[in-house]
Amino acid sequence: MNILTEAEKLSSQIIFWRRQLHQIPEIGLVLPQTAAFVKKCLDNMSISYQTYENHSGIVAVLGKNTGKTIGIRADMDGLRIQEDSDFEYKSSNKNMHACGHDAHTAILLGTAALLKKHEAELAGQVKLIFQPAEEGPGGAKVMIEDGVMENPHIDAMLALHTERRGYSQSVNSGDILFKYGNSSAADDQVNITIIGKSGHGSAPDLCIDPIAAATLVINNIQYIISREIDPFKPCVITFGSIKGGDGAENIIPDTVEIHGTIRNQDLQVRDFVMKRIEEIVKYVTKATRTDYEIEFLNGYPPTKNDDKMVDAVIASAKKILPGETLKIITDESMGGEDAGFFYQKAPGCFFRLYTPAAYTDNIVHPAHSSRFVLDDSQLYRGTALFVQSSLDYLNN
Ligand SMILES: [Zn+2]
Ligand SMILES: [Zn+2]
Repeated sequence: MNILTEAEKLSSQIIFWRRQLHQIPEIGLVLPQTAAFVKKCLDNMSISYQTYENHSGIVAVLGKNTGKTIGIRADMDGLRIQEDSDFEYKSSNKNMHACGHDAHTAILLGTAALLKKHEAELAGQVKLIFQPAEEGPGGAKVMIEDGVMENPHIDAMLALHTERRGYSQSVNSGDILFKYGNSSAADDQVNITIIGKSGHGSAPDLCIDPIAAATLVINNIQYIISREIDPFKPCVITFGSIKGGDGAENIIPDTVEIHGTIRNQDLQVRDFVMKRIEEIVKYVTKATRTDYEIEFLNGYPPTKNDDKMVDAVIASAKKILPGETLKIITDESMGGEDAGFFYQKAPGCFFRLYTPAAYTDNIVHPAHSSRFVLDDSQLYRGTALFVQSSLDYLNN
């Protein structure tokens, strides 16, 4: 039986795992219910694993202690979004799996089950990495600091993300998308506080207005994109949160807090943008008599694929999957992904599994939407490719 057929037989189990996880989304580094679920599944497969004190990461190693080691990583965390759906497996709490990490975890559990079955055929080791906090503050870096890349040393990396966006070529649900070069963008967070002086809205001359200053700061920062960056180098600056005042129309508040995300493909552009944001904040606040605090967080690097690893995974994919479902894409992604830290340490292939699905309103809502829906009937294909690629990598 080939690996795809075996994975397909596991499909309903993978869907079940994914839907169980979908009901218990947790955010950040500590995911008690999610980790308990993963550990229970591994226990049922008689797979031993390592856990950590300060976060919910779980690592299992399969195979024999000779030859090479390949790491496969799945992120496990959800988002602070209230799910707006009527599915019977919808979130049971105020968080949501709106990025597909429940699917990634289920795919890796399927991979664990199949690799356990084929353990005798592994000419080396497979390290399965269940990682928290991809959406922030970043679990990959923490797990690397905890030594996940060593003992045994990881020689190559695999990971995937489910996908739903449009591409310049036609793509269908279940397709596997490969990209040479960067698979994700550098992802940095900026937090800005504009500090003014509060008072009555009818007497702005007696106050220093941080709201008016904040609008100037945000607008001037957007000029970096349109006037200061090489138009052929993609960069995004999005402010997703601005807080000032408390609903009163006639009070000038003391402070405004602004949170933004900065995405770049080019690390020189990234450094330039960060420098210019800080300068604009400094001089616009000076011009408006406000004060400021600024901090840059996260700092996820781009996930840079290794050409040879991409070639190797495509060769493995061609053994088990129909050629027309394998696509090489050239479209850049401005999505962030902390797998980039793993890919700085070992050559790897990060691929995408195309699984868009419409909500009952017939709209395919984007990732991070409260109406995100995922076609989980295709997840077994991700499991199959992880397993076949691992067998081939270790045996060649
Ligand atoms: Zn996400
Ligand atoms: Zn994600």
